[in-house]
Amino acid sequence: MVSSVLLSLLGLLSLIAGCLPNPAETGSGSSPIAALSEPSGQAPSGAQITSRGWRPPAPLDAKRAFSYLERLCKIGSRTTGTAGMLQQQRLLEDHFVALGGKPEWQVFMHKHPLTGQQVEVKNLIVRWKPELKQRVLLCSHYDTRPYPDQDPKNPRGLFVGANDGGSSTALLMELGHAVPKMDLKVGVDFVFFDAEELVYIDNGMTLGDYFVGSTYFAEQIVSAPTETTYRAGILMDMIGDKELQLSWDEVSFKYAPLLAKEVWGIAKELGLKEFSPRVLHSIRDDHLPLNQIAKIPTIDIIDFDYPTIASRSRSHWHTMADTPDKCSGESITKVAAVVMTWLQRQKP
Ligand SMILES: [Zn+2]
Repeated sequence: MVSSVLLSLLGLLSLIAGCLPNPAETGSGSSPIAALSEPSGQAPSGAQITSRGWRPPAPLDAKRAFSYLERLCKIGSRTTGTAGMLQQQRLLEDHFVALGGKPEWQVFMHKHPLTGQQVEVKNLIVRWKPELKQRVLLCSHYDTRPYPDQDPKNPRGLFVGANDGGSSTALLMELGHAVPKMDLKVGVDFVFFDAEELVYIDNGMTLGDYFVGSTYFAEQIVSAPTETTYRAGILMDMIGDKELQLSWDEVSFKYAPLLAKEVWGIAKELGLKEFSPRVLHSIRDDHLPLNQIAKIPTIDIIDFDYPTIASRSRSHWHTMADTPDKCSGESITKVAAVVMTWLQRQKP
């Protein structure tokens, strides 16, 4: 994921070091947008914020969600084409088979940016209610960046991507307990994108392309159309931060403003103050090819300020500090509860 930052709160326009700016998408839409239309429908039963903290709606389980995050991180690096990625692929396949899913692999070859050798890129797709033609996408990248290249001490150290890659993968693993039991009016595809950031920074040069898996997925939709219609997509990335703060990103708001308002409106109904209805960052992520190539209105739920806006100069993003202790199952299941409610409200 690549970002430029619209610090609308502070009235500043700035760029995060090491990120590529998104010139076409900076400089506009940076004012806070507070007005939300009144949402309709019921909040999921069982979701509660009590004096003892957050309790997600059944069957979501914050401890279990966090245990998935820990299991993924125990593998270590899960970069495209590595043994760690292979281990993760087996884990996810076993997980979704056990939940009654039929994992499918979308496989293609890609030139490795360092070695020049062909590397296998594998998107994982789990389709729920495959017979339904009207469908929605829930996505996450599941590869981890090869190195923690923003780490101030050891930019060639181990990067386990607890929040970046791990948290949203753990969220879909957790949501896999809920979706098969739901009375869905639309089909739901979980898509795990590979090679979101098979990218190396070398002497200030960026080697490799972003969004390789999602670009291929979007191109396949265009080049090999089926009877399936994807009416909307929700991408999730970096949603495990203990200090969760979720604002709209400018790209999401440009391509899918109604969806962005709807999702943040559900969060408001659930009393989740972590969701703030204002445009903050301009994020280049896997939602770009889905919007631009496949024309699927897709938002990105992402907390780029890790842990907080105030701590931006010592962010854990792309550092060795992106470890499970910075994340929580509560944060993961708060986002999962919002997404689950959104799924419940999908009409045929
Ligand atoms: Zn990343």
